[in-house]
Amino acid sequence: MSQRTRIRRHPERAVPEEWQDILARGMVAHLGFVQDGLPYVLPFSYHYDPAQPNLLYLHGSVKSRAIRHLAAGAPVCVEVTLLDGLVYSRDAQYHSMNYRSVVCFGTARPISDKAEKEAILERMTRRYFPGRTLGQDYAPAHPQQLRGTAVLEVRIEEWSAKARRGGPRGPRDADPTAPGTCGVVDLTGKG
Ligand SMILES: Cc1cc2nc3c(=O)[nH]c(=O)nc-3n(C[C@H](O)[C@H](O)[C@H](O)COP(=O)(O)OP(=O)(O)OC[C@H]3O[C@@H](n4cnc5c(N)ncnc54)[C@H](O)[C@@H]3O)c2cc1C
Repeated sequence: MSQRTRIRRHPERAVPEEWQDILARGMVAHLGFVQDGLPYVLPFSYHYDPAQPNLLYLHGSVKSRAIRHLAAGAPVCVEVTLLDGLVYSRDAQYHSMNYRSVVCFGTARPISDKAEKEAILERMTRRYFPGRTLGQDYAPAHPQQLRGTAVLEVRIEEWSAKARRGGPRGPRDADPTAPGTCGVVDLTGKG
């Protein structure tokens, strides 16, 4: 951990043991990078497997500005959030969200080997659509489609993971006789 990844606000919410699980469950990664002195954040799908914890994969058109920029070795920040709940309180200031999130820093390199590229794309498809089988439920990509698709391997150099859990923490939220209402809107689908 360096100054860049040290959680200063609510350090008790650091969940370093959960970082791989959060990346493995996430659906959308927000990629932050600087190009020509300007900051950009773009949403991307991604592949992640805790068996290779420091590697994360991206794909996109070889013509994509973001893909080309990252393939050239620009530093990238990758953020993934799982939104677990909306927390409402009897007091305005204590409305909040329950979440698990990871912020990673790293650099990318393009995967040029055709077989490796195909294998990563297949694993990525399986992560999003676990019940579907290549060759049965969907046909493989044509060579031309593969040539037009870049796959990037992001080597994660540093990361931090943070989570908020539980109910509202306002000064009157534990008092059922206080005016107003409080609670959590569960977004996990388990509540
Ligand atoms: C859930 C999700 C998953 C995605 N997954 C992928 C993926 O796996 N691979 C992939 O290549 N692309 C993906 N995209 C699209 C991606 O966000 C970019 O639009 C795309 O990669 C083109 O990036 P670019 O820098 O080349 O675009 P450019 O057209 O060069 O970007 C120029 C400007 O367009 C605007 N812009 C670009 N993208 C968006 C956006 N998504 N929303 C609003 N404004 C935007 C920004 O202002 C940006 O600075 C995904 C988008 C979403 C919402």
